Amino acid sequence: MRRIVLLAAALLALTAAPASAAYRYSISRITPSVKARIMGSSYHRGCPVPLRNLRYVRVRYWDFDHHQRTGELIVNRDASGDIARIFRRLYANGYRIRRMRLVDAYGASDYRSIEADNTSAFNCRFVDGTNHWSNHAYGRAVDLNPLENPYVYANGTTSHPRSRKYVNRSKRRHRAMILRGDKTVRAFAAEGWGWGGNFSGARDYQHFSADGR
Ligand SMILES: [Zn+2]
Repeated sequence: MRRIVLLAAALLALTAAPASAAYRYSISRITPSVKARIMGSSYHRGCPVPLRNLRYVRVRYWDFDHHQRTGELIVNRDASGDIARIFRRLYANGYRIRRMRLVDAYGASDYRSIEADNTSAFNCRFVDGTNHWSNHAYGRAVDLNPLENPYVYANGTTSHPRSRKYVNRSKRRHRAMILRGDKTVRAFAAEGWGWGGNFSGARDYQHFSADGR
């Protein structure tokens, strides 16, 4: 009996061998090379947060083909620990992310970054149609898989044609869709972060922020 148990344990170890690498992350100050990528792009004069208060964060994630990748985000220093822990939970949950690059890869255009289904955080910009800073300008907001989780206007429309099939949130049509109370929403909520899917009027299903706005 003991031998069978040992054999079973050995088999289990073997089958588990090619399993996933552990979650990894790093948090660093904005180095000269990162600074060169963001200056005059996502970062510019007049931004409400000094560069010294931003952090360059790399996290391991699962992509849509279930490969492990390393993504990059810039967030506020005071949000960097939260973000490292949140992405640890997303990784443990097997949540899949299309891509995760600085918005500067898209000329700091929110629209182009969304069209690429890019997950991103810092961008020194106003809330659309206003002249006040978005939480993204403080590095305290993340947009996750934005095509599958669109910003939906109060009248039920979206600016992104490929997001139309994800406007209706009554059921999960894609595994990256974030739904009320699901594991992804809870991963952020565990650090006190709120979800834009709970907004009234227009809903921002891709958006999570430290203060819930
Ligand atoms: Zn957002």
